[in-house]
Amino acid sequence: MDARARTPRGARKVAVGSGEPGGSDKEWRWRGWRAAARAGVVAAVGFLGALVLLVMVFGGRTGRMAAFSSAPGTGFFVQKPVYEASLVHEHVAGPAPPTRHDQDRLLGGLLSPAFDENSCRSRYASSLYRRPSPFRPSTFLLERLRRYEARHRRCCPGAPLFKEAVEHLRSGRNAARSECQYVVWTPINGLGNRMLSLASTFLYALLTDRVLLVHAPQEFDGLFCEPFPGSSWALPAGFPITDFAGIFTMGSPTSYKNMRQAGAVSRDHRNVTAESLPAYVFLDLIQSFTDAAFCEADQRVLAKFNWVVVKSDVYFATMFFLMPAYERELSRLFPEKEAVFHHLARYLFHPSNDVWGIVRKYYGAYLARADERVGLQVRVFPEMPVAFENMYGQILRCSEQEAGLLPKVAHKDGAAANHSSAVASGSRNNKLTSILVTSLFSDYYERIRGVYYANPTETGEFVEVHQPSHEREQRTEARAHNQRALAEMYLLSFCDRIVTTAVSTFGYIAHGLAGVRPWVLLRPPSPEAPVDPACVRSKTVEPCLQAPPRRVCGVAEGTDIGALVPYAGHCEDEHKGLKLFP
Ligand code: GDP
Repeated sequence: MDARARTPRGARKVAVGSGEPGGSDKEWRWRGWRAAARAGVVAAVGFLGALVLLVMVFGGRTGRMAAFSSAPGTGFFVQKPVYEASLVHEHVAGPAPPTRHDQDRLLGGLLSPAFDENSCRSRYASSLYRRPSPFRPSTFLLERLRRYEARHRRCCPGAPLFKEAVEHLRSGRNAARSECQYVVWTPINGLGNRMLSLASTFLYALLTDRVLLVHAPQEFDGLFCEPFPGSSWALPAGFPITDFAGIFTMGSPTSYKNMRQAGAVSRDHRNVTAESLPAYVFLDLIQSFTDAAFCEADQRVLAKFNWVVVKSDVYFATMFFLMPAYERELSRLFPEKEAVFHHLARYLFHPSNDVWGIVRKYYGAYLARADERVGLQVRVFPEMPVAFENMYGQILRCSEQEAGLLPKVAHKDGAAANHSSAVASGSRNNKLTSILVTSLFSDYYERIRGVYYANPTETGEFVEVHQPSHEREQRTEARAHNQRALAEMYLLSFCDRIVTTAVSTFGYIAHGLAGVRPWVLLRPPSPEAPVDPACVRSKTVEPCLQAPPRRVCGVAEGTDIGALVPYAGHCEDEHKGLKLFP
């Protein structure tokens, strides 16, 4: 059987080594392969750095194929929670799987039970696709979330208190007292960046008793379900601020930093009365502009504004952990520092039914049968192009260095010997590993699939390689493109082992949702130079704040920001960055 017929995409000539994506097919190829996938399977085996290997079709395929064909319905996953099936693996540590009762469905109480299941199928179902999280949300976090939800209901669009607050906003002056204070999040940059900054803004809302509202331009609309029961987080039609892109720019006079520089607002909160302030303030937390907000003095002034608009593309949540004012609260909310984003993301981000449909069908067709799933996220940034052969070589070296990361391809002689002895003894390794590749380009997938098709693995296990899409370029302005990106982040997050590319926020989201420490393909010093080591295993599940402020309040200039508190240090993939460690 032709292996190419068994993959989710058609065969195509690939311009290997050019650094350019091969092929011209931009289509999203989800469909049409299920039957073939069920009937065929995978070329066996391995991945050996090299080159040397036999082109040899693995004899065990037929057995595997028969096993699959005899299992009708494997195209859709429903019958059995995946984690129950996958927990039998040696890689899984921890106790036996819990029975599936409400605690699991609600992620240990993280999710409110008050939603209609059909309005958002992913909310209570996505935990079925993953192993149980190694992290439990604290009781304090659960209490704060329920309290937040009640506040959100009281203050959300449609509520009388919201109408009142909007009237103040229209008036142009800040109200002296307001029962409801708001933080409005507005998106910028790619989806991964957006999700990091949105989760950070939610943490800000939790810490400051604000209500989180979201400005969702059309390309962002329809990606996620509403996260708060009985209410909406979307800004309603008729909201007085409309031109978010035009108003909220670096030079905006409404920016807190610019207000401060112009002397329009004092940094000493005792000199600031709420009534003297404009109706809203813009917190510009984009990449290198994060300096303005993370001093206690600033926070006290900001607390007087009833409306704060946040625009950011970074995981600024990390900064709150350096602020003494929030230390006690944060340690109660997140006793496990490694799991901050993990809990926030699992609470907030539930793919809409449209996106979930993509995830569920793809999972059912290509991943559900696997005994083990390995996610490989290959991100080639246009501003830091890396030649295909270099990146591919790095993936191979990473796999060799981290034994067993991707199933090893057997040497020619070994393979033949293994194969014959397996046939002779009637014993066969029936393990199936699925490798899920996500990338804007198809050539990594093509090459890796080719290697496994042509060569047996050392262990005799079966390997499938899949890639859901290859969009060729980032198109954040297109809703369907973002839906596919979100679907792929989710699919990656269902994998048992995840390999990500350095500094990619797309990868951060996937391993953060999974609660898995990723292997990170490090950034080469230059496009041509190989990087050594090729990858490292992250010591934390947390994402990296890639652009922390250059100055931290109350700390002498030049002090290492990574050495201020025991649980925050520099990132493996971005030395100047900052992240939380266990
Ligand atoms: P980052 O640029 O890697 O930090 O991640 P972002 O998510 O912020 O921006 C990259 C964007 O490019 C994604 O949101 C997608 O729109 C697109 N993209 C990058 N890699 C992939 C991929 O593997 N699959 C899909 N579907 N889209 C991708």
